[in-house]
Amino acid sequence: MSQLRQPRPRFRASAAASLENRHMQSALDAATARLYEARLAAWGLLPDIESLRDRGREIRQATIAELDRYLDQFTRAFEDRGGHVHFAETAADATAEIAGICRRRGARLVAKSKSMASEEIRLNEALESEGLRVVETDLGEYILQLAGEHPAHIVAPAIEKTAEEVAALLGAVEGHELQPELEELTAAARRQLREVFTTADVWITGANFAVAETGSIVLVTNEGNGRLVSALPRVHIAILGVERLVPTTIDLAVLLQLLARSATGQRLTTYTTVVTGPRRAGEQDGPDELHVIVLDNGRSRLREGRYREMLNCIRCGACLNVCPVYRKSGGDAYGPVYSGPMGAVLVPLLVGLERAPSLPHASSLCGACTAACPVKIPLHELLLELRRELVADRVAPLTERLGFRLWALLWSTQLGYRVSTAVARVAAPLARWLPGPGRAWSSQRALPSLARRRFRDRRP
Ligand code: SF4
Repeated sequence: MSQLRQPRPRFRASAAASLENRHMQSALDAATARLYEARLAAWGLLPDIESLRDRGREIRQATIAELDRYLDQFTRAFEDRGGHVHFAETAADATAEIAGICRRRGARLVAKSKSMASEEIRLNEALESEGLRVVETDLGEYILQLAGEHPAHIVAPAIEKTAEEVAALLGAVEGHELQPELEELTAAARRQLREVFTTADVWITGANFAVAETGSIVLVTNEGNGRLVSALPRVHIAILGVERLVPTTIDLAVLLQLLARSATGQRLTTYTTVVTGPRRAGEQDGPDELHVIVLDNGRSRLREGRYREMLNCIRCGACLNVCPVYRKSGGDAYGPVYSGPMGAVLVPLLVGLERAPSLPHASSLCGACTAACPVKIPLHELLLELRRELVADRVAPLTERLGFRLWALLWSTQLGYRVSTAVARVAAPLARWLPGPGRAWSSQRALPSLARRRFRDRRP
């Protein structure tokens, strides 16, 4: 069983609280709109974005189909260059492995750069329980660490925070008031993090990709903290979701183009760091020890069957920025790690549908997420499939299942269809007075009125 933290059981209650929060709503609206427009502009600059998306999709599908072979190739190449590969089947295995490395090195301070996989395995809590001090060095993650919160967006973790809120958090560490101005805030964060950069015993990062042919791990950042990892630390540990392999550097180039354009609208992310082995004799920069934790945590289960498409995800966040539900409910409603349409599909698959039954319903099924996905994952179809499973596995409430069963029965016979549509014709205007769950539905929607005469009743 995956140990991903379970999302909140009441998506509706959490989303309603977000809707009441005007500051959060305006920050989220502005940021997602900016990212959405930047992606469209960046896609528009390419002569043939559709071909690039098709190529990216082919690469992801071919890699997942032969994942074992590429994992073997990556492991051999990584170890040939002096790195250490550790396989972690569960979150607990991964955190135990990382804690063990820190213990053996006598580490006390751990610096982290942004990694959703580390959020998934609750790494900070695990290391802190071992007495280690863990500091996030990505600016957004650092802000959230100060606030005691989790990422609200997979690319822009502090997307819901206003400049005033950030000023209050950083000002509390400085011990004086800060103005909500960009330069003043980044200068404060730099002061607070600089010491961590130079004194951390161990650095922990994610890995956006890993290249099988060269045994390299690839870090993509806009702040440069990931780049420091390749230069400063004595020990560097990277957490790699097992599905994030790519066969060759040529394939990597395709996916990097798609990732940067789709995530932030950049042609290439500011820092793309390719780490191939620890520091060699005669080199000045780089870690003495380089470890990669290859994390499964439920991913292998998805390789067979309909949901394998989800393993193609390159975590660009484009589907979040276009989703009308995410843009209103905010990231917290989905639980602490993966949010938006990709989270609504992935989280139930990792933790079990019965533990996240609300998430497949957190969608209008408008298909905007599918249209935005650079590797063309059919997100809205997967959400529908999960809804079918909710019914088939009897996770959906009995009343809902009975209601749909009755509807299917009625419309399976001519008489049932005729009677029910005749009743609906008379009763449709009364829908707004429906009781119970029907009221919640009808208070937000107008039922279309039915034609006075059915098509089948019109005789020439
Ligand atoms: S599902 Fe597609 S759009 Fe969403 S984060 Fe993954 S790759 Fe990006």
